[in-house]
Amino acid sequence: MTSPKIVIKDALVVSAQSAEPRRSDVVVENGRISAVVATGTADTKMAKTIDGRDRLLMPGFVNAHTHSPTNVLKGTGDLLSHPAFMWRNQADTAGRTPDEIRLSALLGCIEHLLGGTTAIIDHFPEQGFTEGDVAAVVDAYRMTGLRAMVALRIFDEAYTDIEPPGGYPPDFAAGNPLSPAPLADTIALVETCIVRHDHSADGRIRICPAPSNPMRCSDDLLSEVVRIAGIHDTPVHMHLLETAIQGTIARKRYGRSMVQHLDKLGLLTDRLSTAHTIWLDDDDIALFAERGSIPVHNPESNLKLGTGISPIAKMLRAGVTVALGTDGASTNDNLDMHEVMRLALMLQRPSEPNRNHWPKAIDAIRMATIAGGKAMRCAGLGTLEPGAPADLVLHDLRAPSWIPLNDPLTQLVFSASGATVDTVIVDGKVIVEGKRMVAFDMEPILSEVRGLVRHQRDRNRDLHAWAARMEKLVP
Ligand SMILES: [Zn+2]
Repeated sequence: MTSPKIVIKDALVVSAQSAEPRRSDVVVENGRISAVVATGTADTKMAKTIDGRDRLLMPGFVNAHTHSPTNVLKGTGDLLSHPAFMWRNQADTAGRTPDEIRLSALLGCIEHLLGGTTAIIDHFPEQGFTEGDVAAVVDAYRMTGLRAMVALRIFDEAYTDIEPPGGYPPDFAAGNPLSPAPLADTIALVETCIVRHDHSADGRIRICPAPSNPMRCSDDLLSEVVRIAGIHDTPVHMHLLETAIQGTIARKRYGRSMVQHLDKLGLLTDRLSTAHTIWLDDDDIALFAERGSIPVHNPESNLKLGTGISPIAKMLRAGVTVALGTDGASTNDNLDMHEVMRLALMLQRPSEPNRNHWPKAIDAIRMATIAGGKAMRCAGLGTLEPGAPADLVLHDLRAPSWIPLNDPLTQLVFSASGATVDTVIVDGKVIVEGKRMVAFDMEPILSEVRGLVRHQRDRNRDLHAWAARMEKLVP
């Protein structure tokens, strides 16, 4: 569907492509940026015009790793280790109806859009899923206008990384929501969903295969993922080396590092983006750089669960493209890419005595925009080049937090928040205007979603009791 031409006049343009913000007119046609020209020179005939004089214009953020089922779980757990969180998460997300899945995704769309994030990789869901579940989440993205890669989370083996050190209780199997479906069924389901939904909403919504974590998958599954991604030309997304024990298990199992094993299977290519990616060595980093695979750094989730600090300064120096993500809202507990961007930079500094090696503000903007676009394999996404998808965010520079305007680029990274986002355009369509959601009515969603966690905890009472037992058995 074609949306009307838009001309944003005389905005202060900031992107990772230029260290020097400049005032420009930006023209949007047919969902794409058609021109970025000197102020006052854009043709405004037959166009909706937006006054950019008090606005900072930037590409929308790309949240390159999140989980829509956890959007409703903010504030539901603290002081949880990774395995303890994982077990609690099963009780909190298992058994959802398609309506509940859709509602949780819708809530995330609202938070992302109001905060200036225009595209996401949704690693969806946790346990087994149906075609109806995928249709529900796709429907949320279709309705709200957010750009999304629905990365179907699959596995066919045990989650050995979250196993209690003393072994499972004898009645474990009966209650385990992480029992895998047969491999052939899983692969067939992924292909069916790709055929049905990939490139939905004029290509704004895409589907890709996304192993939960390669060590929870057989080599057969991983090889099928390579095949599917090749045939359908999709990205591949996965969790990778989030905890130290995942690295240890991989070396024991494969006799090499997990990264080397992925390379051997043909997965380590520029199709691949990997959440967390903390516990890797210099050789692994060199392989990432050589193959063009993209780690997605999730600093807030990593700190909250105490899993470690990903060496992204080292990766960036080695030439690796690093993207950023919030991770799920149960380990963050928000979907705020401003926070992620700021923390990603600052976290690298205390352990690096040479300040010339510190990532800079423009690196953070690149990670939060262009690198995420590459992870989604969406040409031009995160840039302001003519032909790039028109996913744009305008901040209101009249807000006290932008005054005085000393260095827009540095302030965007170190002082701004989503609170000053005034206008959001996705795929050339105005979604937020004057800080208001104008593309859809968000109030019914907000009132409906309020009771979801309470209702679900009530329904999953037995599963919660079971998860509480598991939490006691893991470190
Ligand atoms: Zn995750």
